[in-house]
Amino acid sequence: MSYKLYIPGPVEVSEKTYQALTTHIIGHRSQDFVALYDDIQPKLQTLFSTTSPVFLSTSSAWGVMEGSIRNLVQKKALCCMCGAFSDKWLEVAHRCGKQADGYQVEWGKALEPEAIRKYLQTGEYDCITMVHNETSTGVMNPLKEIMDVVREFPEVISVVDTVSSFSAVPILTDEWGIDVVLTGCQKALAIPPGLALFTASDRALARAAQVEGRGYYFDFVEFKKNHDKSMTPSTPVLPHIFALKSKLEDIFEEGLEARYARHEKTNAMVHEWMTRNGFELFPEKQFASKTLTTVSNNRNIDMNAFNKRLKERFQMVINTGYGKIKGVTFRISNMGDETEETIGELVRNLDAVLEEFTS
Ligand SMILES: *Cc1c(COP(=O)(O)O)cnc(C)c1O
Repeated sequence: MSYKLYIPGPVEVSEKTYQALTTHIIGHRSQDFVALYDDIQPKLQTLFSTTSPVFLSTSSAWGVMEGSIRNLVQKKALCCMCGAFSDKWLEVAHRCGKQADGYQVEWGKALEPEAIRKYLQTGEYDCITMVHNETSTGVMNPLKEIMDVVREFPEVISVVDTVSSFSAVPILTDEWGIDVVLTGCQKALAIPPGLALFTASDRALARAAQVEGRGYYFDFVEFKKNHDKSMTPSTPVLPHIFALKSKLEDIFEEGLEARYARHEKTNAMVHEWMTRNGFELFPEKQFASKTLTTVSNNRNIDMNAFNKRLKERFQMVINTGYGKIKGVTFRISNMGDETEETIGELVRNLDAVLEEFTS
């Protein structure tokens, strides 16, 4: 049975991308692979808005999130926490045996640059982690304003998870001075799960080279050494790299500005549906995500039953909340390939199901 995903990851995959995944396999140490790597690298650098290398990691995003901790924390990390993914990062740092503190804000609120300044002014930290777009709460943190503060502390290496915002909104890696930007492929890039992408600044690579216990699989120094030969440290998930090449064609054919505008527009359509039906936004409006909407279930609809009906009647699914806000919130994704037409169809179907639940 097939049905369309409007959950915030993994998201719906296009026919073209599915086709690209079935490209005939090549040797990962062949000239064909080098040509593939060299073809996509400059496009990835444009998309990441950086002149630093963009590395391809055969893992989900968490591999690189954990790897960043292992590679970059020498003294102590400050883990900024505002939802399920960012909260867990502190725990992961501790599990890696690193010193780390949490700066926690209430779920639904955004990180505050001034609070971050106070932490960093203590001089205790040499690394900061944060999630740009908290996929659980639907908060998009003010990354530029945060980086304006973080840049004042040159000993602090910044690591930003852009898993659910990457390619949907501008993220100016070099201009904002972010050392590591990481993402996964199954969110706005709309590729099936299995590949993570990340960039590392010279500063980050220099730090990694000094840190003990980096391990092998996620060693940034290994990534750089292999990158210099247009290769990856170990056998990469080749089908996904073919799919990525295909997706990059799509992205640059559409144009970045048009892609950002499309996400903004489709997100506004979901907000309009929400407001029109008497639901409220879970995050503060000013910091609401552009790629998904976390809605407060203030009308107390049985969302599991609602979603089941949406699937039966229209072959579509949304998400009924994540972590400790499951049930009291639900989430609708507009990331990836969604258009005004497809989101228009979704909201019409949501209306039809809602009518059944309220009549
Ligand atoms: C989905 C998501 C992750 C986790 O990605 P995996 O691919 O499951 O490792 C991490 N951070 C954010 C913000 C996410 O949305």
